[in-house]
Amino acid sequence: MINIKNIIHLCNFFLTSLLQIIELGGKGGDMGKRKTRSFIDKVTKGTGPRGARCEICGEIIQNIKTIRPYKSKSGNWRYIEEMHKVCKCNEKEILIDKSIS
Ligand SMILES: [Zn+2]
Repeated sequence: MINIKNIIHLCNFFLTSLLQIIELGGKGGDMGKRKTRSFIDKVTKGTGPRGARCEICGEIIQNIKTIRPYKSKSGNWRYIEEMHKVCKCNEKEILIDKSIS
């Protein structure tokens, strides 16, 4: 029997393996590295814990890129890419699913 917890665990496992494969594959040449880097950023949706701390919550402010798919009037899927500076103060309003007008 499969429950939700197992599914989430499997997802994490696959994502980790994927990242490892990409990291291994990106070791040849600068072009490959740059591509690999930006793809990992998209997958992990962040650049890791470094940079300035928020004065209000004390968390490290992270630059996070969100990619939101939406269906255009012509019926094609399009993507909006946005950069956000995120800490505990605003993570909920940024990471929640918003409808695109
Ligand atoms: Zn904060």
